Amino acid sequence: MSPILVFVDHDHGTPKKVSNQIITAARQRGGGEVHVLLMGEGAGAGAAQAGAHGATTAYVWEAGEVAEYATEPAVAGLVAALEASGATTVLYPADPFMSDVVGRAAVRTDGGVVTDVVDLTLDGTEMVGTKPIFGGAMISRCKVRGGRPAFYGVAANAFAAEESGGGPPEVVPLEVDLDDTATRTRVVEVVEQSAGGRPEMTEAGVIVAGGRGLGDAEGFRLVEQLADVLDGAVGASRAATDAGWYPHQHQIGQTGKTVAPQLYIGAGISGAIQHRAGMQTAQTIVAINKDADAPLFAIADFGVVGDLHKILPPLIEELAARKG
Ligand SMILES: Cc1cc2nc3c(=O)[nH]c(=O)nc-3n(C[C@H](O)[C@H](O)[C@H](O)COP(=O)(O)OP(=O)(O)OC[C@H]3O[C@@H](n4cnc5c(N)ncnc54)[C@H](O)[C@@H]3O)c2cc1C
Repeated sequence: MSPILVFVDHDHGTPKKVSNQIITAARQRGGGEVHVLLMGEGAGAGAAQAGAHGATTAYVWEAGEVAEYATEPAVAGLVAALEASGATTVLYPADPFMSDVVGRAAVRTDGGVVTDVVDLTLDGTEMVGTKPIFGGAMISRCKVRGGRPAFYGVAANAFAAEESGGGPPEVVPLEVDLDDTATRTRVVEVVEQSAGGRPEMTEAGVIVAGGRGLGDAEGFRLVEQLADVLDGAVGASRAATDAGWYPHQHQIGQTGKTVAPQLYIGAGISGAIQHRAGMQTAQTIVAINKDADAPLFAIADFGVVGDLHKILPPLIEELAARKG
């Protein structure tokens, strides 16, 4: 059986949580060896962590050309890794950069793509991806027929990352031929969108999310304060982001981000199906809402019925006092 290639997303050589999750899933469900692709400056430093999660071979391309967002060179790197590994199945984190690269690589290799997969199973030797559709109201199982390779974009936090006990992988430096077309565009400026020193939502263990019940943008100060005493990230419903109360990149849900923190607190969020599609796998869900019939209570582990403006300030004060 040909190996599965995992396209690793990393931060200066440290694989992101989602990459470790996908390597684990490939090892546990793939039925074959797991190879990984690490590209960009400092990428090789990520090989050991990939090995700890089950990768046996790491194709490393320490390329300055992909130091910043650079689609064309990254496509060339991915295609080179496919040729080098002989993989017919590729798993990648379903984030915008990876999806951009994979879409083009699939066209170039005549492959097929299944996006936003939350589970993987084997049908014989073929991978099958499970993905929610219609905001999680239905589940579909999809596999790539005909075209090879088969690319599966895996949602963050769909799997738990577990170390395999294995040693470091064999590191294979990747040879990538770049023609002129691969360097037609270059990044001239990167503007960081500040998360206010808070963790990235898809990586965070705690998320405090706010919705229309906050009343206005100022209401988000309470959500930020609670997030800060819990060392968590701030999330938002689409009603809140559409109203301009909080930036869109904090939106959780069907058309926002999928999160799976240990603790999710939703304040003034009704829990519409499109919102739940992005957070229902949180380990512990706390809902704060003045309407006892709000749908979020149906999936909450703990519910507080009442006005969030009365509930949050003393809660923040008490937690801050305990934190010291
Ligand atoms: C195609 C499509 C995609 C969508 N994608 C997303 C998505 O990705 N993410 C998303 O979130 N939504 C999404 N939506 C929108 C979704 O359907 C809901 O409209 C949205 O989630 C509602 O946001 P909300 O819960 O903040 O607001 P509301 O539904 O208005 O709920 C506000 C809640 O706050 C409570 N409240 C009010 N005042 C207080 C108070 N003082 N104290 C406590 N509670 C209070 C109310 O009782 C109410 O339950 C999508 C919709 C469509 C059609």
